[in-house]
Amino acid sequence: MPPMPDSMHTTARKIYEWYEAKKEDHREHLGASLIGHACDRYLWLTFRWAASPEFGGRLLRLFDTGKREEARIHEELRGIGVELHTEEDGSQITCRDDTGHFGGSIDGVGLGFPEAPKTWAVLEIKTCNASSFAKLKARGVEAEKPQHYAQMQTYMGLLKLERAMYIAVNKDTDDLHTEWVHFSKTTFRDLNDRAERTIKRTTPADRLSDDPAHWQCKMCDMYKLCHQGEQPERNCRTCCHATPAAAGKWNCELHGKGLTAAEQRVGCDGHLLIPALMPGAEPIDGGVNSITYRDTTTGNTFTDGPKLKVRRRTGITKKEAKMAEEFNAPFVDPFNDDIPF
Ligand code: SF4
Ligand code: SF4
Repeated sequence: MPPMPDSMHTTARKIYEWYEAKKEDHREHLGASLIGHACDRYLWLTFRWAASPEFGGRLLRLFDTGKREEARIHEELRGIGVELHTEEDGSQITCRDDTGHFGGSIDGVGLGFPEAPKTWAVLEIKTCNASSFAKLKARGVEAEKPQHYAQMQTYMGLLKLERAMYIAVNKDTDDLHTEWVHFSKTTFRDLNDRAERTIKRTTPADRLSDDPAHWQCKMCDMYKLCHQGEQPERNCRTCCHATPAAAGKWNCELHGKGLTAAEQRVGCDGHLLIPALMPGAEPIDGGVNSITYRDTTTGNTFTDGPKLKVRRRTGITKKEAKMAEEFNAPFVDPFNDDIPF
């Protein structure tokens, strides 16, 4: 007998929904936690709010479990005599690069770690399962968790500290892996350059792979955009008229004004999608505030511009087919600019 589907009215489901309802919106800056990601395109699409990760309530709860582990490690470090400055002291420890668009929030900064008691160090805390933990112990953070390593190098570089304490907790056994990480000026510069390139680009980088079965693409939040022709989200970050400005700000060239984060999230009727983000179509013409595209599959044309909803024809709908049958007439697509009507 097949397993019974989960009821939608259990207490567990309600808790998951609660997590889903309060999940964080797009991050304003390019996060240091991402800068070691394998794909340049992913960094840009994330910075440009092209799609939101589809984390369900259970996964969001799991992230929260990891976050809660931080408080325990803080208590333990203080217990062994480490002088620690953390978010709990009253303010988050944040850092930004010169553009104001790249940086992050740090788990803590501490003095008195047994590895070098007189050296201030960035603290980074992660949790992982037993399999991941075993690999981490065998190969070390730089080789096994390059994204975590890049994150710590960024924090050290931006805070002008030369060491980091990396603590990983095995979620299955509660074992701890601690690693004393040295600052690498070259790595920091490379990461900073990568961030600068990402912030300045006006179009996405090439795909990491054109193969939809590539393992990194299959795990990626941007999979539907890159490999399934999904439309990106419509907000200021995906609009041609938005540009990153100094001090982490954004400007709208169309309205000639700065944009708050709240305004960026909503956008306006003047939104004009960055052409490179239009899936399965090539721009063939442009007006004052409109772009005409040709669908690369059907050859049909359509226009994107203010107050125009982009409608793409991928065949007629069932309702349209029924109407055509009823009236014994071929269906005419009013959104196809090639058909006069
Ligand atoms: S789906 Fe693949 S190509 Fe697209 S952003 Fe993710 S890793 Fe990069
Ligand atoms: S035109 Fe509208 S959507 Fe585009 S950047 Fe300006 S305010 Fe945002």
